[in-house]
Amino acid sequence: MPELPEVETIARGLDQRVRGDFIESVWLGSHREPLKSSAQEIAAALAGTRIAKVRRVGKHIVFDLEPKSSQNGVTKTQRAASLSSRNGGRQWIVHLGMTGRMLVCSPEEASPKHTHAIASLSSGRELRFVDPRRFGRLSVTTDRGFTGPGTEPLTVTADEFAKLFRGRKTPIKAALLNQKLLHGVGNIYADESLFRAGIRPRRQAGRLSRAELDRLHAAVKQVLKEAIRLGGSSVSDYVDAEGREGFFQLRHRVYLRTAKPCLVCRTPIKRLVLGGRGTHYCPKCQR
Ligand SMILES: [Zn+2]
Repeated sequence: MPELPEVETIARGLDQRVRGDFIESVWLGSHREPLKSSAQEIAAALAGTRIAKVRRVGKHIVFDLEPKSSQNGVTKTQRAASLSSRNGGRQWIVHLGMTGRMLVCSPEEASPKHTHAIASLSSGRELRFVDPRRFGRLSVTTDRGFTGPGTEPLTVTADEFAKLFRGRKTPIKAALLNQKLLHGVGNIYADESLFRAGIRPRRQAGRLSRAELDRLHAAVKQVLKEAIRLGGSSVSDYVDAEGREGFFQLRHRVYLRTAKPCLVCRTPIKRLVLGGRGTHYCPKCQR
């Protein structure tokens, strides 16, 4: 499942490739699960808009759209008439789920079997949403106000961070994975952050000292930023918008390193299952 660094990498790649392009028409498949808004709503909101920007919000990819007519009024068919929203702004919101991918293709390329949406662009290319397991979600909003649930880990302050965990009786690892608290930290980055902060995953979140929380706050940011710089972690089949793998998996210090020597103290890395998720830690470095 892509986490924050992978979604950031994909959103940046898409922004480079399709920003400024126009969505001419939209095809949606017959499976209902991926559509959080109705197929009609999505098609109507997207068709005839210009992609002003693609960015990440939490673990969502957000396409900021503006009516074609706002570009010097050059519209062949006055599709803008159907764009009723007063401020003209709208967003296409994509959550990749477990296996979702956004591909920029030429129309001649065969559509993979699990293609659920195709946006035809005026540049002649297609933007395709492909998702074999169908946990991904597509929706649209008309108010540009999408912020997603939870707090953004790259900008959260130390005070805000500490407040998130106050009084929480769950293990800190589970609290880090709770998307209503911090948005975008998944299994890999929770394990790696806890290792760098020297905190055992099973510790009760509400009982961590302020010094420990400050260390964890710094570790989460450091790990996510380093992972973004390296294009994310390619475990299972993750690749970015251009089909490139990320390289942060080469920097993992505990994740999936069970029984291998700790890179700091040589103690074998341990694995336990916490909240149903495989959890990796060094019993000596983490207290
Ligand atoms: Zn160690």
